Amino acid sequence: MAFGSLREGAEGSNCTRICANCEQIPHFWYPSPSLMTQRTPIIGGNWKMNTGLESGMNLAGCVVDMVNTIESCEVVVYPPFPFLQAIESVIDSSRVSLGAQNIWHEESGAFTGEVSGLMLKEVGVTSVLIGHSERRHIFGESNDVISKKVAVGIQEGLQVVLCIGETLEEREAGDTLKVVLSQLEAGLSNVEASQMVKVVIAYEPVWAIGTGKTATPEDAQKVHSAIRSSIDEMYNSEIAQQTRIQYGGSVKPENATDLFACKDIDGALVGGASLSADSFTAIVMAARNS
Ligand code: PEP
Repeated sequence: MAFGSLREGAEGSNCTRICANCEQIPHFWYPSPSLMTQRTPIIGGNWKMNTGLESGMNLAGCVVDMVNTIESCEVVVYPPFPFLQAIESVIDSSRVSLGAQNIWHEESGAFTGEVSGLMLKEVGVTSVLIGHSERRHIFGESNDVISKKVAVGIQEGLQVVLCIGETLEEREAGDTLKVVLSQLEAGLSNVEASQMVKVVIAYEPVWAIGTGKTATPEDAQKVHSAIRSSIDEMYNSEIAQQTRIQYGGSVKPENATDLFACKDIDGALVGGASLSADSFTAIVMAARNS
């Protein structure tokens, strides 16, 4: 079925909650399944510093209602820290996993404002974003700190989503691959081959995050392919083939299918569009079986 076709009353139409950010519709948009790969696609919803407690719980409830029957796609939501436990109570026993937007690389101690992996695990977190471009560029996180966080996240048994991506300036200077691959290498510098199963890479060109601009599928595919080759060189081809590489940067239902059709794109890290259960679910549907 082509993207944009309407299927009345199908699975996914059973959300009965009222979300602040999503329109309730009695039907569902079904994008085409993308190309088959061996890797289970993963869609993450990075809520950033958005939602309130109640609206976040409603959003999570709608997401659960709408994606719970969708197999062959991993779905993770990353709410703000104060709402993690409440969101966990909503998504508990569902197919949706709980993620955190950040972690500190020490277990405990005098680190005002920071949160450890142990604390995250205690409230049900199973996945963590590390090195998001907002952490790198607003909060000045270095590759060194990011690599320590990656190591600790893995030691704690969390799934680690290592975010990498170039700025517009770096892209215009022709340095995209140089920047992205050096962030990749630094971020994975403490990760052994046997631990790579816990790692997901999110390629997020900084100029595409929250701007409405998306890399073309061809441009994104070139970078994803280079990332995979680099993982092959750092580890081996089996690990390179098993590692999932998400794309992030203004992913929406309208562009998701074309992105997921690229052979090295294994899902998406979604910011703005994850604040609407309808948009987020449409992106999950686009990734199913891809
Ligand atoms: C993000 O926050 O990781 C992101 C990709 O945001 P957006 O989808 O809004 O561009």
